[in-house]
Amino acid sequence: MTTTNTNASLYEAARAVIPGGVNSPVRAFGSVGGDPVTMVKAAGPYLTDAEGREYVDLVCSWGPMLLGHNHPAVVDAVHRAVDAGLSFGTSTPDELRLAELIASRVPVDRVRMVSTGTEATMTAIRLARGATGRNLIVKFAGCYHGHSDGLLAAAGSGVATQALPGSAGVTVAQAAETLVLPYNDRAALEETFATRGQDIAAVITEAAPCNMGVVAPEQGFNAFLRQITERHGALLIWDEVLTGFRASDTGYWGLSGRPEGWTPDLWAFGKIIGGGLPTAAVAGRAEVMDLLAPLGPVYQAGTLSGNPVAMAAGLATLQNATEEVYTTLTRRSIELEEMLVEALTAAGVDHSIQRAGTLFSMSFGTSEHGVRNYADAQGQESYRYVPFFHAMLERGVYLPPSVFEAWFVSSAHDDAAMQRIAEALPYAARAAAAAQPAP
Ligand code: PLP
Repeated sequence: MTTTNTNASLYEAARAVIPGGVNSPVRAFGSVGGDPVTMVKAAGPYLTDAEGREYVDLVCSWGPMLLGHNHPAVVDAVHRAVDAGLSFGTSTPDELRLAELIASRVPVDRVRMVSTGTEATMTAIRLARGATGRNLIVKFAGCYHGHSDGLLAAAGSGVATQALPGSAGVTVAQAAETLVLPYNDRAALEETFATRGQDIAAVITEAAPCNMGVVAPEQGFNAFLRQITERHGALLIWDEVLTGFRASDTGYWGLSGRPEGWTPDLWAFGKIIGGGLPTAAVAGRAEVMDLLAPLGPVYQAGTLSGNPVAMAAGLATLQNATEEVYTTLTRRSIELEEMLVEALTAAGVDHSIQRAGTLFSMSFGTSEHGVRNYADAQGQESYRYVPFFHAMLERGVYLPPSVFEAWFVSSAHDDAAMQRIAEALPYAARAAAAAQPAP
């Protein structure tokens, strides 16, 4: 065990006992370089590292901390749950209340709690195969749905950050059952369904992709996914692990499916519904969801599924995610975008901003064509993000350590936090302007 407490020494000690020194690859700063920061405390919009430095947090634990860190109502609910017992391995009242709350916000009949988004999408796929008796899954390049074997092909997020084509350890047979298409490409979908439609169990999509940077679906693209799946007897799996209850009060569905009048068959949720503790859910239409054990033949289980402490955190988070919270989130994310654009423009950095509800990301050197798919995202001048990221970090702003991630705000981001970001941005923009591609 280490007795030192600098970021560098903790990382060095961690590398001796944890693969790569991290428990999730993107935390390793692989694409931005330098020693990852070890955080020891969080409050409101701030994180504090092992050296006592404070940062404005624009990662928000990759999404869950919608209300900011250590929101009093969430902390109180967790304390009460802890006092009542850590885990029962039985049904609990709060899992019922959280399921009801989710079903009151989005049109799902049934909700099954799991512990990670990976499990949620994995279960949705098993359900789709069980429901249709078909094997093939269609996914989009650059969409990340967690790290289950069949979903790692051309995944975004950490896979994009590490520039990996997929993953070792995935069998050829599993890879062959996932058809990967370019995002926003209706012709590719038409062609795939025309040739293999009878074998396709489901199309899985991020409601709005946020793991190749944010890439908004083109007008009508999601509705088209609904139509083409329905036409061919396949299911539509709608991954809202990241966007759910963040992109809007009803997730990205509220901005896409609801106004257009359609619903997916299966949904995956995570992040916010656990309020910072490990909870996720698969949800959807009764006829499909009731195929799950113990009612039906599709098996799924979890020792800690619906854990009472996690349920209390998720419930308190969603209960406190009021209209006012979403108004604040929207306002702060727009302010942030405006500050970013102003700084990049002043420094003469070619860029574009991609937005999906309260979520957005930037990309470099893309103003002419924008970013509509993974190839566009990968084609950007990503080397500019390295000095940009470090200039922000040095000035006390913690950004996602990869250009392929969304920026997350919370309702706790106040004027003081925004001011610190505003002061840091011009330095970062100038650093991005001066960046040179690796020789
Ligand atoms: N789906 C999406 C859209 C995600 O962004 C993520 C994680 O970031 C996942 C699924 C996987 O969730 P987890 O990391 O909880 O397994």
